[in-house]
Amino acid sequence: MKNKEIKIYLVSPRGFCAGVDRAIEIVKKTIKKYGTPVYVRHEIVHNKHVVENLKKIGAIFVDELNEIEDKSRPVIFSAHGVPKSIPKEASKLNMEYIDATCPLVSKVHREAENLNKKGFHILLIGHKNHPEVIGTMGQLPENEIDLIQTVEDAENYKEQNKDLAFVTQTTLSVDDTKNTITALKKKFPNIKEPAKEDICYATTNRQSAVKSIANKCDIFFVIGSRNSSNSLRLVEVASQSGCKYSELIHADSKIPVNKIKECQTIGISSGASAPEILVQNFINELKKTFIVKIKEVEIIKENIIFKTPGKLN
Ligand code: SF4
Repeated sequence: MKNKEIKIYLVSPRGFCAGVDRAIEIVKKTIKKYGTPVYVRHEIVHNKHVVENLKKIGAIFVDELNEIEDKSRPVIFSAHGVPKSIPKEASKLNMEYIDATCPLVSKVHREAENLNKKGFHILLIGHKNHPEVIGTMGQLPENEIDLIQTVEDAENYKEQNKDLAFVTQTTLSVDDTKNTITALKKKFPNIKEPAKEDICYATTNRQSAVKSIANKCDIFFVIGSRNSSNSLRLVEVASQSGCKYSELIHADSKIPVNKIKECQTIGISSGASAPEILVQNFINELKKTFIVKIKEVEIIKENIIFKTPGKLN
């Protein structure tokens, strides 16, 4: 029998951003235009549910272009962006490619490239091995760009012969990044910064929404994948903003029922690559054990849409 009542603060904006919507739409439109199969290099966005659904309609996911058996089929590059060498490799292989890189990631690519052309050595603030970071580092020759992951990296960075400029990954923690930038500016007062912040609107809004309510929640759940940078940052933001316990709910998670039994208020959000159906499934699971009261907390309405490439329309 259900006798424990819990209050859920369901925050928004949450879930899909314009870049993720566009990337998924690109796969669907490519299948519609070219038939099946179409290849996708890397997870189009970091979500298993999304990837499995696209597999069902004819997408084949590969890690590298040389795994593609039928090179006459088109290949799509993921929303995270790719190093410059990848479209070059596709052209060499005579493959047709469609680039689903989010326009806000492309903006960072162009920024890094332009600053480098003007003579700056580039520092990229981001997380090693994330596909977006690999893509951005790959816009420039290796000796023209270095990765800064932490405040310590910034403090220990050895000056180059060139003037320095920095860009950032789009899905970082707004607050942690501020600290890294402050450390860089302290050590290199003349470092050039991007004209407009690189952390994207979707990351900023989702973090602000979590921040606005975290201290009222006994526990905070973020629906998203383990390899989703912006989902992981939301979990951190919830605990840094006053919620004692926050947890990522991913494809293999078990609902921590006993922990929830000790709580009155629960916060829920989802990463930019997590479909809303996963949030609703999670709430439906909670309803099996608890009497659930939901309060929507919306801090801002998003109405950004990115167009898909003209050749697919
Ligand atoms: S999180 Fe931001 S940068 Fe990444 S796909 Fe979404 S809008 Fe683009």
